[in-house]
Amino acid sequence: MNNVLVAKNLKKIYGSRGNVYTALYDIDLEIKEGEFIGIMGPSGAGKTTLLNIISTIDTPTSGTVTIDGDNIVKMDEDKLSSFRRNKLGFIFQDFNLLDTLTIKENIILPLALSKIDHKEIEIRVKKIAFNLGITDILNKYPYEVSGGQKQRTAAARAIINKPSLILADEPTGALDSKSSQELLQCLSDLNESDNATIMMVTHDAFAASYCKRILFIKDGKLFTELVRGNSRKVFFQKILDVLKTLGGDNNDLI
Ligand code: ADP
Ligand code: MG
Repeated sequence: MNNVLVAKNLKKIYGSRGNVYTALYDIDLEIKEGEFIGIMGPSGAGKTTLLNIISTIDTPTSGTVTIDGDNIVKMDEDKLSSFRRNKLGFIFQDFNLLDTLTIKENIILPLALSKIDHKEIEIRVKKIAFNLGITDILNKYPYEVSGGQKQRTAAARAIINKPSLILADEPTGALDSKSSQELLQCLSDLNESDNATIMMVTHDAFAASYCKRILFIKDGKLFTELVRGNSRKVFFQKILDVLKTLGGDNNDLI
């Protein structure tokens, strides 16, 4: 399998002289095509910092991040914005949908600047909406649909441009347990059937149990990793065990 992402010696130091804080120490990370990888760790561990660097929102103090063969750390802003549009898909905790656009218009927004023709766009929307169970709400506005439907819309928007890597930051954070489960099943299906590569930050062991591999970060360093076997239930228990050794209770892990 090809590597979608390779990060080497990633270091992030915040602040300046006399008042510095090292948020990430020499992190090495590889994500292969078709992986569904979770990032967990206590509050302040460096999860958001890592995700922001991989999202190209922030830059590391040193180290390299290669996505699909391009080192994003050295890219200029023009190239970065087209890189983000073409290679990355984002799912945020608070959905980030535009209220004045319909669900369908929100989903196809990432294709606005692309040269993909109208017919192909229709075909993609239909297929993705069907897979995510949102066909019936395509002509509605975000305020007319539930939180779970909004997040599945966000997932549809994240994959419509067939990105190399989908980045999800606490995607179930604002959802009730039933909607969370539906979203996670959708992500899992996208991963299995479309070979979508997904990296998800979560503090929730249940959500993490849908991943195939989980990296645990503590104090800016990789603490350990877990790989899922056949059983999601067994995996869930193992995740809880690691979280216990990481310290803090679950409520503390946001
Ligand atoms: P997590 O997402 O795992 O909770 P973060 O990546 O947000 O952790 O933060 C890691 C550490 O870096 C924390 O100690 C946090 O206080 C610090 N930090 C995060 N952002 C900044 C910033 N902009 N300036 C200074 N320190 C920061
Ligand atoms: Mg965070």
